[in-house]
Amino acid sequence: MDDEFRLDAPVIIVGGGPVGLGLALGLARYRVRSILLERRTGEIGESRAMVIWPRTQELLRDWLAYDAVRAAGMFVRDFRACDAGSNAPIVDLDFRNIDDVFDDPGALIIPQYVTERVLEELAAASAYCDVRRGVEVATLAQDERCVTVTATGPAGPITLRGAYAAGCDGAHGVSRHALGLSLEGTTYRSRVVLSDDVIDRTFDDCDLARVDVDSPGLAFAIRFAPNEWRTIASIPPGVTEEVALSPQAHAARLERLFGKGVQARTSWSSLFNIHRRHAQRFTAGRIALAGDAAHLNSPAGAQGMNAGLHDAANLAWKLAAIFNDIGDGAALFNSYDLERREMVTDTVERFTDRLTRLGIGLPPSIKQFGIRCFSRALRGRGMQRKICRGIGMLSGRYVKSPIIDTRHPLAGRRIDDLVLSDGKRLNRARNGEAVLIAAGDIRLNGFRSIGVLVPPKRWHLKRAAALIVRPDGCVASVIDAPDPGRIAEAWQRAFCGTLPLPLAEA
Ligand SMILES: Cc1cc2nc3c(=O)[nH]c(=O)nc-3n(C[C@H](O)[C@H](O)[C@H](O)COP(=O)(O)OP(=O)(O)OC[C@H]3O[C@@H](n4cnc5c(N)ncnc54)[C@H](O)[C@@H]3O)c2cc1C
Repeated sequence: MDDEFRLDAPVIIVGGGPVGLGLALGLARYRVRSILLERRTGEIGESRAMVIWPRTQELLRDWLAYDAVRAAGMFVRDFRACDAGSNAPIVDLDFRNIDDVFDDPGALIIPQYVTERVLEELAAASAYCDVRRGVEVATLAQDERCVTVTATGPAGPITLRGAYAAGCDGAHGVSRHALGLSLEGTTYRSRVVLSDDVIDRTFDDCDLARVDVDSPGLAFAIRFAPNEWRTIASIPPGVTEEVALSPQAHAARLERLFGKGVQARTSWSSLFNIHRRHAQRFTAGRIALAGDAAHLNSPAGAQGMNAGLHDAANLAWKLAAIFNDIGDGAALFNSYDLERREMVTDTVERFTDRLTRLGIGLPPSIKQFGIRCFSRALRGRGMQRKICRGIGMLSGRYVKSPIIDTRHPLAGRRIDDLVLSDGKRLNRARNGEAVLIAAGDIRLNGFRSIGVLVPPKRWHLKRAAALIVRPDGCVASVIDAPDPGRIAEAWQRAFCGTLPLPLAEA
């Protein structure tokens, strides 16, 4: 290496939205320094993504960010949506149904600008994050040693070098273009009007969403503060922007959602296209794309920002492991692309697409029938658990990843956050690290491990086994009849040799 060569930080993050900030905190958790470049100097003005689901909550917990985010939001264990016409509950989701696999489950309702504010405060307080605002990135270029980023900041042009870079610069950022990639997929024919409204009516505290089931399209509102609601309504093709955003049309939408004569102060409203799109690759060389820079999803189901934060979690531990300078770091980095692209296309896109089409594509009578059937099915505990896990983003699985041994049905899934025999939760015991779990009546002599004496039936273990769980809580491998050789081999595959085996201290 020549004397002139110097890195400014191990990782340069382009974009300081929720995903860029999350990645900075995720890296900090593993003591990896990053420089984050954000062109905005102020906050975003809209509520945007407003729900933080359970899977994202546990990742925030690993980044030591959860308590602060939760304190700034509205946490609900019961998520109830009403028919706006009759006020009757149509969806009543009780997250306590999954408290055996998740510690204190619920939905956290919080406007995106508040989430960003809290994450930024935490990043600013961390010695590992260097957040620079008012810096607009112009180019990213890479060679076999580093990524070079040029930008313009308050003091003029700057050039920075990082071992890796993450493009978290949203749908229209420069990072994806620098890689010659585009967002492929579809744009729905219907567009949506989004607005933030303070209304003069008070509803039951538990009623968090109101759905206009009689409307021919998608029309619902979610509450994010006592009288503040975000409304979302689909607009059929052919209606002009002027008509869709006219005060009369907005007042009519609000009357259908909140009742005749409702008065509202609308802080913001706009017409948007909605998409189901993703980049062809999420990595190229030393650059990764995450969040909206990599995929765009319909707001139905509120999965988009959450999925972006899951990208950040997948990437953070992998980058940290690569800096151990052992093993095959390039293979581990590329697994980020394979895993997250698969999760986005096969799980997130399918789920949001189904909800969007149900909302905008069905005649009201069929929609009402469907909602009635769903509402009835949701009375059973089994269905409650299924939906809480699904919408809570706890049930996805990586099946195509080369670093996951998918021969066992548990591999590729998030590990349940069980209560251990000492009363502690498994996630607290894992503490965001890679661990071995001794499942059943077995000892893994020579290794540090966490014991789960009575594994739940849904783990599908025929006999005692060793489980490798990654820092992001995903099961990488289930090792039957584990011996030191088989454990070492499976550990090598799970981490491409970048993490040392958890050997017991002599
Ligand atoms: C109006 C609106 C409403 C939405 N509503 C919902 C919703 O209800 N539910 C939901 O799940 N999602 C919603 N979304 C989507 C959600 O906001 C995104 O999924 C989320 O913001 C993605 O986060 P991100 O960090 O990947 O990207 P962004 O939030 O877009 O952040 C990217 C950041 O990069 C910065 N940046 C861009 N280019 C550069 C550059 N060249 N140099 C430096 N910085 C740069 C930008 O300023 C921005 O701060 C909404 C989005 C919008 C716009």
